[in-house]
Amino acid sequence: LQFLRGMPKIELHAHLNGSLNIGSIRELAAKVYGVQTKEFSALCERFIKFEKGAKLDECFEKFGLMHELTATKEGLESATELVIRDFAKDNVIYVELRTTPKSNENMSRRSYLDTVLGVIRKTSDLYNIKVKLLPSINRAEPVDVAEETVALAVELSAIEPDIIVGIDFSGNPNQGKFKDFMPVLNKARNHGLKLAMHCAEVDNPLEIREMLRFGMSRCGHGTYLSASGFEYMKEENIPIECCLTSNVKSGTVANIGVHHLKQLMEADAPKVLCTDDSGVFDTTLTDEFFLATESFGLTRSQCIALTMEAVEHAFATREEKLMLKMQIYSYTRRQN
Ligand code: IMP
Repeated sequence: LQFLRGMPKIELHAHLNGSLNIGSIRELAAKVYGVQTKEFSALCERFIKFEKGAKLDECFEKFGLMHELTATKEGLESATELVIRDFAKDNVIYVELRTTPKSNENMSRRSYLDTVLGVIRKTSDLYNIKVKLLPSINRAEPVDVAEETVALAVELSAIEPDIIVGIDFSGNPNQGKFKDFMPVLNKARNHGLKLAMHCAEVDNPLEIREMLRFGMSRCGHGTYLSASGFEYMKEENIPIECCLTSNVKSGTVANIGVHHLKQLMEADAPKVLCTDDSGVFDTTLTDEFFLATESFGLTRSQCIALTMEAVEHAFATREEKLMLKMQIYSYTRRQN
């Protein structure tokens, strides 16, 4: 565990609001609400508790707590900084944060993204971590919201090409139709934004086929891909973002022993280990690596190889990738 904790890590699938851990939620709530009540503490406990056999739909209800705390500019600023700090604490040296721009009486979607961008600019050096941003399309929302998000992402990526590098397609997979979002996703891609898409998170063969035909740079979860789907991913060098704890706790994978990471390793197919929502699922990237070593017997060198593989699939520049690889390499030298 010590080796994994110290290992410089790469996080490619992290939802901003889902990555607020329980300690940070309490810190944030103290700022937003002042003194915390017993009721709030009880709410926090319930937040990270998953009953066996939990349904995916129930998981989506959990985000409401964080969304309340990040509904103001100040709350969102603090949350973004806390999340970046917590990843850095876990020796994550590169993180791609995804978040759904929201509009309410305090903020427009533009000011939501501006706020997150401002914190990223300010804190990357402070915590010694490279941070990128993927604005998210929530498939449960109407297509015109997605259009606004993509228009903003295109505009802001021209100003901040080092930070805004892609679009995430996420949200409850039991809601919304992928087909409806194809034109707006195409627009993003035509403007040079990479696509990280939640795909095959639930068993929907028709939609999975549509998504594979459409193409993507990285695939979130990929739990219900068929054997030919996995083959296609390998041929196209599209990595599956594997989120072990998330999949088990949300019930999309029956137990860790049957997680598709095993299949992907055996097939030598592209894959990356990620947290998804380290707060909601009460995990860290170190924990995810530890779980993989315990469950599938990953050796230290396989953990390093997985990390190097994540660098390859990051939406980073060639120079950034080189720097990241050097940091990882120098860690392994020091350990030997
Ligand atoms: P936010 O976009 O920063 O608010 O992060 C939370 C949001 O990410 C949720 O409301 C969902 O839309 C999305 N999300 C988080 N985890 C998952 C997942 O496992 N599958 C699909 N969407 C997710």
